Amino acid sequence: MSTIYLDWAATAPPDPETIEEHARVAAGAFGNPSSDHAAGKAARELLQSARIRAARHLGARPEQVIFTSCGTESNNIVMLSLLLRKRTGSVVVSGIEHPSVFEPARLLAEMGFAVRFVPAERNGIVSPDRLLQAVDETTLLVALMYVNNETGAIQPVREVATLLAERARTGGRPIHLHSDCVQALGKLPVDCSALGLDSASFSGHKLGAPRGCGLLYLKRPLVPLYRGGGQESDLRPGTENLPAICATALAIERHAAAAGAEGRARAADLKGLLIERIGSIEGHRFIPPEVETEPERYSPFILNVAFPPMPGEVLVRLMNDRGYAISTGSACSARKQKHLRVLQAMGVDHDLAFSAIRVSTGYTTTRAEIEAFSADLARAVASLPAPARR
Ligand code: PLP
Repeated sequence: MSTIYLDWAATAPPDPETIEEHARVAAGAFGNPSSDHAAGKAARELLQSARIRAARHLGARPEQVIFTSCGTESNNIVMLSLLLRKRTGSVVVSGIEHPSVFEPARLLAEMGFAVRFVPAERNGIVSPDRLLQAVDETTLLVALMYVNNETGAIQPVREVATLLAERARTGGRPIHLHSDCVQALGKLPVDCSALGLDSASFSGHKLGAPRGCGLLYLKRPLVPLYRGGGQESDLRPGTENLPAICATALAIERHAAAAGAEGRARAADLKGLLIERIGSIEGHRFIPPEVETEPERYSPFILNVAFPPMPGEVLVRLMNDRGYAISTGSACSARKQKHLRVLQAMGVDHDLAFSAIRVSTGYTTTRAEIEAFSADLARAVASLPAPARR
């Protein structure tokens, strides 16, 4: 039985062209980019070309793009760089962040920083005013993701950047604004400079590149915890994973189109179909309900829905048995049973959060797949004993 893959927010299926690029670079450009011989020089040129190509799609200058191993590492580099500050201060983090921001924030709290988690509103979107109210003269960093990985809610990153800039203009201390843009790249236009970000994280495998390459946008260099051979301007030392880097640059080029109006319209069409079909299944609850009434505020690639009191895990298993890959939420936290945190941070009660499933699409998803999935989902829900559907 072939699987219909609707878990793109966890990872994208491999894009054959990026896999080929990975193999080509691994075999043909194996030199260490730091070496002085011809093989090293060839690798160095490829590395720089990948940086230039990626930067072009991120609204960044090439020297502002650092290659890392994944989105998690990019987030950690920024968050944990605060540990080297002479004095602790406060950090303001949205309550709906991915664990790769949330957990470093908790570590900062253990190390004496005053960490303030700001919940989202019930529509899954963080209020810029509430975020700013948590900021004070001791605040060093604000972290607000661009697209939430569980609900697809698009966060007001640009507005927060404007408010922080205004605050700095009227005498406040400049505050670093970091945004986890992992679920935005290839899905929405991301222009780090126009968004007013100081730093942003990205991940290649969400775009069809093989694992092993993340990116970090840094408006200005920072002092990271890592020490080593000086690669990546000392920000992420360690021999560069050139095959994954080149594959990621290609994936960004190939799928930046998905972030354009046409790609988004295609995804919105599929999501509209999904909402229409699931909307006719008895007992459905979209999380948040505004995905139906204000679709433009949510990524067209992610839909969260629940059929309480059926546990999301059970539905994921039932759908897996029928040949569909979906998930209960963030793949990274699902196994740690922490996946209710994000939905609860937007006021969703425990029982509804416990029932949530996430359906996420990508550039090869078709209407036929959505139709088949929706019909099988209706059958799976109907197959449950009546009390489970009440
Ligand atoms: N941030 C968000 C919003 C994510 O969805 C993910 C992956 O699920 C990450 C960060 C982590 O990215 P990576 O898997 O590259 O470490």
